[in-house]
Amino acid sequence: MEEYLSALGGLLDASPYTVAFTGAGVSAESGIPTFRGDEGIWKEYPPALYGNLLGLALAFLFRPRRLAGLASGILDTLLRARPNPCHRVLARLEEEGRLRAVITQNIDGLHQAAGSRQVLELHGNAFRLRCVRCGRRTEVERERAWGVLETLREAGNRRRLLKSMREYTLPCGSCGGRTRPDVVLFGEGLPPAEFNRSLEEAGRCRLMLVLGTSAVVYPAAMIPRVALEGGARLVVVDPSRTALTSQAHLHIPLPAGSFFAHWLRGPDTPGPGGAETQLQFKGP
Ligand code: NAD
Ligand code: ZN
Repeated sequence: MEEYLSALGGLLDASPYTVAFTGAGVSAESGIPTFRGDEGIWKEYPPALYGNLLGLALAFLFRPRRLAGLASGILDTLLRARPNPCHRVLARLEEEGRLRAVITQNIDGLHQAAGSRQVLELHGNAFRLRCVRCGRRTEVERERAWGVLETLREAGNRRRLLKSMREYTLPCGSCGGRTRPDVVLFGEGLPPAEFNRSLEEAGRCRLMLVLGTSAVVYPAAMIPRVALEGGARLVVVDPSRTALTSQAHLHIPLPAGSFFAHWLRGPDTPGPGGAETQLQFKGP
């Protein structure tokens, strides 16, 4: 553990420009299951069926009770989630001027809840609505979302499900148009401003912290590859091997929340054996 902490500290100190790229794994220890984990709602509701507009429309027509179960499960999980030490360390690093931005694939808003300010959300945010007519984005207040959750839990048929969906997606405050949750479903494009800024940050950084992502969902997964092509080093924190592990300068094979909990606690008394004897570095 100490070796990983000091190795990461050294890389951060040496880097003039560092950004983080995060995925579902950083929120796992906040109680939000990842897509590819063994447990959780995704096993019961395959994202391939429920993660796109057509699948959702079919579920609404033919399996409204199941869709209501999925929606209330997601909303309940997101509402209960709190930032974990990984979110908190990233916010602190930004405050200390050691991290320029967090590029995230998550839609849970936990980076902002922890205090990060430069957050680029590639897949949107579940607690934001987007007007389908004028594009205006509006935050959803948590209190209102808890109220919708109550309605959703009772929604056993299409009429009630529709009612709860309308309760969540209030009409646009500017033009009165329809709104939808501001999240990117499979088959939809990424928000251009966020994606372009993320590509810029990836091209500029010298160090990228790749945290809790399988890095297989494109086009978001281009981001760390752009960083690599620009000559940046990658630090991967993920208990599993991912598509990027072999290209990482340093792989820390631990859950991100518990690893960064040690970072928050500060250095312990160093034990025997140096970092070099324990760690496998790659590249220059
Ligand atoms: P993924 O499910 O494909 O991969 C998750 C990765 O996290 C895996 O490599 C896994 O080994 C790792 N992981 C699991 N627990 C971890 C932990 N405690 N610490 C560190 N790593 C851990 O997720 P992805 O790459 O983000 O892609 C899935 C897509 O699903 C994304 O586009 C995202 O938008 C969406 N999603 C978001 C949330 C969220 O907002 N919290 C949750 C699930 C899925
Ligand atoms: Zn509008």
